[in-house]
Amino acid sequence: MPSSTGSPDPAPLSIVVPCFNEENSLVPLHEALREAVPGVPVEFVFVDDGSTDGTLEVLRKLAAEDPSVRYTSFSRNFGKEAAMLAGLRRATGDAVVILDADLQHPPRLLPRMLQLHRQGFDQVVATRDRRGEAFLRRTTARLFYRTVNRWIDVRLDDGAGDFRLLSRRAVDAILALPEYNRFAKGLFSWIGFSTVVLPYPNERRRTGRSSWTAGRLINYAFDGLLSFNDKPLRLALYGGLLATVFALGYALWVVAHAVVSGVDVPGYTTIIVAVIGMGGFQAVLLGMIGEYVGRIYRESKRRPHFLIGETDEDAARVPAQRR
Ligand code: UDP
Ligand code: MG
Repeated sequence: MPSSTGSPDPAPLSIVVPCFNEENSLVPLHEALREAVPGVPVEFVFVDDGSTDGTLEVLRKLAAEDPSVRYTSFSRNFGKEAAMLAGLRRATGDAVVILDADLQHPPRLLPRMLQLHRQGFDQVVATRDRRGEAFLRRTTARLFYRTVNRWIDVRLDDGAGDFRLLSRRAVDAILALPEYNRFAKGLFSWIGFSTVVLPYPNERRRTGRSSWTAGRLINYAFDGLLSFNDKPLRLALYGGLLATVFALGYALWVVAHAVVSGVDVPGYTTIIVAVIGMGGFQAVLLGMIGEYVGRIYRESKRRPHFLIGETDEDAARVPAQRR
């Protein structure tokens, strides 16, 4: 087998980029990253998450031109979490930076991140503010983080996304977590290690559009709430207890009232309110239990997180066979 890319010595810095329909941003991104850390040996790991545009062709070209570019292409869209996992698995560097393909994560932060890593931090978290974002998005985000931090065991910070540098042992810790349902923000926080925050001003997306629709964000919010603990179940238990105590008290009062002042028939309103109220409460509770059961179901199937359609290694082999 000819080894096309020369010596396989470990790259000190791996850059993992999940890409979904990013054909226009990849070349400028690659260039900007190259310029950001001149002189530092870098390994690029692009993961094409089942893009339907020319992303894969662009990646093939980049890999052919630059031997430090590796890519993995999924058989279909598996989501950003799966793409990040695939990238982390392939990264070989002592430090691994994860960043978005759309240039919203400024490459100019890389030198500072590397510097903080060299000072001994295992996680350098680039945190953006929300300037320039729509009011609704800002407010819902704030609400989300407040609720989540109240109800889950790990801490999530607003603006702290997936843009971060991880040390080798942090990456290994993430990779050792076997769960199928991956909520990366929570996992990063869960592994711990020394963490430092690096704030930066928000940037607008350059090309293409955000793939986060409102529905997707709501699902993400529920994932965040439910993937990390069973506190919501505990809350429901207390809610149920409270409703039961209230209902018992009311029942006693009704019986006492009937004994003292004779049976009175009116009470239609009370009955309707009670029936609808209890029905609603039970439906929500069942839905929540269903969510947990669904999670157990998905975990128990032990499916792979993604399937690979092609990698740079395949691409390198094909022309050799044709020759
Ligand atoms: N992405 C992905 N798979 C998806 C959706 C998005 O790999 O199913 C990538 C996308 O290419 C980008 C990053 O995840 O590099 C963030 O996506 P996006 O910019 O749409 O999200 P936002 O910046 O609005 O949070
Ligand atoms: Mg983006």
